[in-house]
Amino acid sequence: KSAGDPLKGVAFAVSVAGSDPSAGAGLQVDLKTMTACGVWGMTVVAALTAQNANHVTSTASVEPEFIGQQIAALEEDFPIGCYKTGMLKNAETVRAVARSLPEDRELVIDPVLLATREYRLLDEGGERELVESLIPRASVVTPNLPEAKVLSGIDIVDAASMEEAASWFLDLGAKSVVIKGGHADFRKATDVFADKNGTVLLHGNVYPLEDVHGSGCCFASAIASHIALGYPVREACAEAKLFVDGAIRYAVEYAPGRFTMNPGW
Ligand code: PLP
Repeated sequence: KSAGDPLKGVAFAVSVAGSDPSAGAGLQVDLKTMTACGVWGMTVVAALTAQNANHVTSTASVEPEFIGQQIAALEEDFPIGCYKTGMLKNAETVRAVARSLPEDRELVIDPVLLATREYRLLDEGGERELVESLIPRASVVTPNLPEAKVLSGIDIVDAASMEEAASWFLDLGAKSVVIKGGHADFRKATDVFADKNGTVLLHGNVYPLEDVHGSGCCFASAIASHIALGYPVREACAEAKLFVDGAIRYAVEYAPGRFTMNPGW
């Protein structure tokens, strides 16, 4: 089994995502989350951002071949239990990741499109490439409502259309999907998990904070951590939901009025 080697006591998970220098989201919060979940987290830098607690000021891409080299270097040494992807910036980056990831690895895809601070983190070509070459390989894909709407074209307005969108991701080839309900004005903070066995609701507490930076990154990397630890995907998602609930509850106000996830809770 590839989920680390329990005999050695170390499970390995890799985030392939963008850097957030403020460490509230992206690779940095992924690594904190993996550490908190008891996993040896590793990072493949696939994109860069300049941002602080208030806004993203710019982004940059990483040479596609260099993304492949980072993955190849890790593959040489570590029994990687799960990969997680986050911000991938453009189609070239998505293609490089799809090309470089070994076929048989567990893969959590967080389809990051837009920062809460209204900055595009994946261009339109990248959206198409994500749908064509990466989502069909996902063990689980974790769109929030706006991402699920953009990718599926389904107008999600209630619980039934949320399930319809979940089916759209399964029809694409993803083995399972979690549509996150954090942005919903119905059944708020309830996520829909779906796989070929059916649908399960993942309930969370509603907290009075509107915008907690990095929540999606933290959720996806907590799922990847639990898969690397050997949990079945559905249980990994349920555990990750509990973990994220705590990281929101104890969110850090890292600038006045600006909150970010606290995986160290
Ligand atoms: N910056 C990077 C590098 C990210 O990967 C993400 C992840 O979604 C974000 C920003 C967006 O964070 P949020 O929308 O939670 O503010």
